Amino acid sequence: MTAALRDLIPERFVANVRFNEPLSRHTSWHVGGPADAYFTPQSVDELGQFLAELPRRVPVHWLGLGSNVLIRDGGLRGVVVSLLSGLSHLEWQTDTVVHADGGVLCAVLARQCVKWNLGPAEFFAGIPGSVGGALAMNAGAWGGETWSQVIEVDVMNRAGARQTRLASAYQVGYRRVTPPVADEWFIGARFKFPEQPRPSPGTIDELLTRRRETQPIGSWSGGSTFTNPKNHFAAELIERSGLKGCRKGDAVVSEKHANFILNEGHATAADIEFLMSHVTAEVERLQGIHLVPEVRILGEVA
Ligand SMILES: Cc1cc2nc3c(=O)[nH]c(=O)nc-3n(C[C@H](O)[C@H](O)[C@H](O)COP(=O)(O)OP(=O)(O)OC[C@H]3O[C@@H](n4cnc5c(N)ncnc54)[C@H](O)[C@@H]3O)c2cc1C
Repeated sequence: MTAALRDLIPERFVANVRFNEPLSRHTSWHVGGPADAYFTPQSVDELGQFLAELPRRVPVHWLGLGSNVLIRDGGLRGVVVSLLSGLSHLEWQTDTVVHADGGVLCAVLARQCVKWNLGPAEFFAGIPGSVGGALAMNAGAWGGETWSQVIEVDVMNRAGARQTRLASAYQVGYRRVTPPVADEWFIGARFKFPEQPRPSPGTIDELLTRRRETQPIGSWSGGSTFTNPKNHFAAELIERSGLKGCRKGDAVVSEKHANFILNEGHATAADIEFLMSHVTAEVERLQGIHLVPEVRILGEVA
């Protein structure tokens, strides 16, 4: 596919395309095989033209900071689009409204809103992802959720056409967002931060310190591996099943927070996926509760 893709991508885009790009470089687990092509558009127009000209049979995937994906060792066929380097503009538009490109980091959004005296946005500091990924996942922390603050989103479809949609067009739940139509991706969003609570940068630091005390921050992981089942905490169920420290190769269930699976150095995606299946089976056997992955498993096995 890589060789064939080189011929399908018009020459003027090639400067922003890396072929056969290892996705382990772009995921927080540091695992994942290659993408045939990894495209970093430098503007919305460039992205639109690229998608319009790329033959429809070529699959397109979107990746933010790779903090909620398990990409298998065989990688992803087709093109992976990343907004991180080119679409990362953040703008305070009116008294209460901020526009963020999809490639803005959540941590940057949080800290900039504090500087602007806008909020509540501090919770974004706990999400090690991009605005695009946070919109796709309805990421949340410390009682805040991405979509509670969204007014409208800018989206682009597979044909490269852009559109703005109201937040009310989306069905949103816990780590779940159902769009009104398929095959559309987020290139930006307008957020309303109405309270102007004069938050201090210290608040963010305190929240992050609390997080460091309870989670293995700094280790290679995908964050919470499983969503919390209704009325339960996934971490508690995993711990009660005696699975802390359980490992497959260099993939291990964290001793500090049982819903985190760590890559201690040389784990493969297959190791992590195996461990996830084992944890799911054991929790079901011992607690009678079926865990559902929060991380999205993508790509081909090696
Ligand atoms: C240490 C750690 C702590 C974490 N803590 C939290 C937490 O407290 N709360 C929480 O909610 N999450 C948490 N996460 C998970 C993760 O950070 C969030 O889900 C985050 O929103 C993912 O953003 P991302 O840019 O990394 O997306 P990615 O992981 O790159 O992608 C996630 C999904 O979104 C899709 N996607 C990415 N960009 C776009 C786009 N522009 N348009 C459409 N779809 C897109 C991808 O295709 C993929 O399906 C944590 C992760 C780690 C590693």
